[in-house]
Amino acid sequence: MAVALIVAAGDGERLGAGRPKALVELAGRSLLAWSVDLMLGCDGVQRVVVALPPGVPAPAGTVGVQGGSVRSESVARALAAAGAARVGGAAGAGGDAGAAGVGGTGGDLVVVHDAARPLASVELVQRTIAALAGDSGVGVDGAIAAVPVSDTVKRVGEDGVVSETLDRSALWAVQTPQVFRRTALERALDVPAEILAAATDDAWLVERMGGRIVVVPGESANLKITTPLDLALAELLVARRPA
Ligand code: C5P
Repeated sequence: MAVALIVAAGDGERLGAGRPKALVELAGRSLLAWSVDLMLGCDGVQRVVVALPPGVPAPAGTVGVQGGSVRSESVARALAAAGAARVGGAAGAGGDAGAAGVGGTGGDLVVVHDAARPLASVELVQRTIAALAGDSGVGVDGAIAAVPVSDTVKRVGEDGVVSETLDRSALWAVQTPQVFRRTALERALDVPAEILAAATDDAWLVERMGGRIVVVPGESANLKITTPLDLALAELLVARRPA
């Protein structure tokens, strides 16, 4: 079984809505409500914890916590509120995890999802969870949704001069959901504040502990709402969905 953490505590300054991004509406529902409905609709998700902006109440069916000053701190706070991890026992529960808390084969799973990605599908969440199950999930600490990069990506110096053109065939743009074995994520988040502040996704924190992360094909419609253009695009995508 899995617990889902929705991080929704960002201020959304780049959206310029004058209120927290999670409260901005897409097709008549807040971005937060989209993600909560998504997770409550997933088989295998037994609890939903939401990291919220100050003063925002927890949506029905969820446990709410106040978010942190950076995204990974919000994830850590939500995980801390998710109830005690079951350790040991027949289900594995990380009992085979190595000293670094990575490399396990069983245990509780944690789904981390950005409220800024309202259009992820239930099927994507379940496929990402499934990547940690069965024989193919043995030795895997996390599974992340990602899509192949279609743009050419270059490294550019502060002087504006290109220093390298990266091999696009090996590049993936990472999304959420990201699913982790709980022991691995707990260990990965137990790091100094400056490392949490440097993390742009949770998988990196697990990778730097030596954890093994696999990619699950994501969805191009699972866009991250950052700017007003993203919101307009998401409105179009919702309008095109079959009734
Ligand atoms: O800022 P960014 O768009 O990368 O945020 C990604 C997700 O992390 C958003 O859903 C946002 O609400 C959340 N977040 C958070 N706490 C923060 C910063 C961002 O929960 N301090």
